[in-house]
Amino acid sequence: MASRRPSALIIERFAPSPTGLLHLGHGFSALTAFEAAHKAGGRFLLRIEDIDQPRCRPEFEQAIYDDLRWLGISWDGLVMRQSERMPAYRNALAKLVSLGLCYPCGCTRRDIASALSAPQEDVDPVMGPDGTIYPGTCRGRKMTARTGNDAVRLNIAMAVAYLGGVNKLNYLDIGTGKITLDKDMLIEGCGDIVLARKDIGTSYHLAVVVDDAEQKITHVTRGIDMASATPIHRLLQALLDLPTPIYRHHRLIRDANGKRLAKRFDAMALQAYQRAGKSVQDIRELLGFPAIPG
Ligand code: GLU
Repeated sequence: MASRRPSALIIERFAPSPTGLLHLGHGFSALTAFEAAHKAGGRFLLRIEDIDQPRCRPEFEQAIYDDLRWLGISWDGLVMRQSERMPAYRNALAKLVSLGLCYPCGCTRRDIASALSAPQEDVDPVMGPDGTIYPGTCRGRKMTARTGNDAVRLNIAMAVAYLGGVNKLNYLDIGTGKITLDKDMLIEGCGDIVLARKDIGTSYHLAVVVDDAEQKITHVTRGIDMASATPIHRLLQALLDLPTPIYRHHRLIRDANGKRLAKRFDAMALQAYQRAGKSVQDIRELLGFPAIPG
């Protein structure tokens, strides 16, 4: 009789940015990923997403460690810090550039807004994972013409064509099921996303895909507000020959008025609950996790 193969190791991660205090929603994400990893006998990794250095602060990074420990969450191995991974992002960008799928873009937010509002002022622009869909103003420019004031964008239509179509690319979203990429969803729903900002040389999308692969993440647990970025991540994995994790996009934790929590609202910060005398059991109960016995 064939022997049963041991089930593959589950590797989850929590990837906060130290640009503010963790709030209840982060607690929910971290606890969901941590408990899923532990239930499966897997690993839970921590990654500090600090590419946007001017917005990151050491005290927020320290607060991440303190808050996670307070919640009873420990992580395996060393913490990965994105600010130390710039060469890996540069290599990935160079690969996409060498495939001829990138162009430099010097448009400011204002340029983009005015290009979008010009012909039909009363129509709301389509929103993608990074806000309004880039109107393509710089699409004809060559990478050799890139200046210090330019970001680098991915030409999505060319990327789709390079792969010979995307209808064989899919991923599993726990909750929604199997999602298959669709050309229109990418071209019209995401647009030519930024791969490298002019100031930081990479972008969230590029860094997250490169790092999930480097950390061998099998399961990505994050809020449903990130779900619209996942098709882009799947596309980048295909272009860069990287594996695709399973995704779990969870519900957002909202405040008493039903608004989603943002880092700037410190009232819902985990530290505010702690200061108000709440226990970890209180937080777990609030978030719908079973009490820890004892
Ligand atoms: N760094 C992102 C954040 O703090 C999370 C990204 C992710 O989980 O993919 O919102």
